[in-house]
Amino acid sequence: MKHIPDNDYLLLTPGPLSTSKRVRAAMLKDFCTWDSDYMQVVQEIRESLLEIASISTNYTSILMQGSGSYAIESVINTALGKNKNAKLLVVENGEYGRRISQIAKRADIAHTSVSVSENAIITPSLVECALEDREITHVAFVHCETTTGILNPLTSLCKVIKERGKILIVDAMSSFGGIPIDIENLGIDFLISSSNKCIQGVPGFAFILARINALQNLEGNATSLALDMYAQWECMERLGGKWRFTSPTHAVMAFREALRELKDEGGIEARHRRYSTMQRHLASGMEELGYPCYVDRAYHSPIITTFCYLNSKNFSFENLYAFLKQRGFVIYPGKLSKADTFRLGNIGDLCLDDIKTLLGFVGEFNLVAG
Ligand SMILES: *Cc1c(COP(=O)(O)O)cnc(C)c1O
Repeated sequence: MKHIPDNDYLLLTPGPLSTSKRVRAAMLKDFCTWDSDYMQVVQEIRESLLEIASISTNYTSILMQGSGSYAIESVINTALGKNKNAKLLVVENGEYGRRISQIAKRADIAHTSVSVSENAIITPSLVECALEDREITHVAFVHCETTTGILNPLTSLCKVIKERGKILIVDAMSSFGGIPIDIENLGIDFLISSSNKCIQGVPGFAFILARINALQNLEGNATSLALDMYAQWECMERLGGKWRFTSPTHAVMAFREALRELKDEGGIEARHRRYSTMQRHLASGMEELGYPCYVDRAYHSPIITTFCYLNSKNFSFENLYAFLKQRGFVIYPGKLSKADTFRLGNIGDLCLDDIKTLLGFVGEFNLVAG
């Protein structure tokens, strides 16, 4: 069935994304952050995150105000922070990897960054080589690099890092909820994602799935007050779902509904299938229309795809953007310096028919403006 949006347009962006009416309807009431009913909702969310991630009580979940970057900063700052013996390795192949290095730099945290080009995956041998620096205690990388949509090989990367006994931090912002991740068996110590990506909630907070053993010795280690992950966890545990500072109540209510919706869809596996089907259809359809994928299809995530411009002197991204927006789709510019590209995300409350409709419009655009 064709998707009838109850918004002006559908978002083909990597978050915020199109949410369902059901999720948005959950925001129509106001809640008191101190009230036990509300705190119960927070606890339900924290439990539910562990449940959908299929992780044991060796893990806990911490909710953190702000967008995804705030939670990344809170993990880096709390895990390394004041510890003078800690050193972070950041492995990068895009903008979000570079952001982790910036966070470390800004906080004067000892770190080394290694990178590969944006259309290449991070390889275990690159990490192995960088880990010859014996001072490194922590490693961070991005699972799905939203800059391009490339998917880094999580299993083999986690293996080399954990075999060497390092604390492992994974930015799974744009993958958690949309791609199954075996967090516990991979030995991930801190995994970060946010409310407005594959769980399909609205923006307002992020969350961390943390191995309790790696978390519990971090008291007083953060150099930031508001972004102290340990203090946030301690407060949520001690007071049963209380955030330290004002919590984004409406976003929290929407998120609980989004988690229920995810369960109704059949969980992460089912959502992964829906995203994958849409992404494959989108990538082949766009290629047929003259927009090649920037990243090798073999490395592609089912989340967001980078397309090269149509090879025509009349093509303009601004025109394509305006044309599609008028017809109910908002697309996303590229973030690459080396190539003329734009991006189409396919996460959110979208279905295959939406992708088919979009491809029809791109075909029409080619006729008038290509
Ligand atoms: C969205 C995203 C972030 C966080 O970005 P914010 O704008 O702070 O929400 C971090 N890493 C990746 C890979 C992302 O996709």
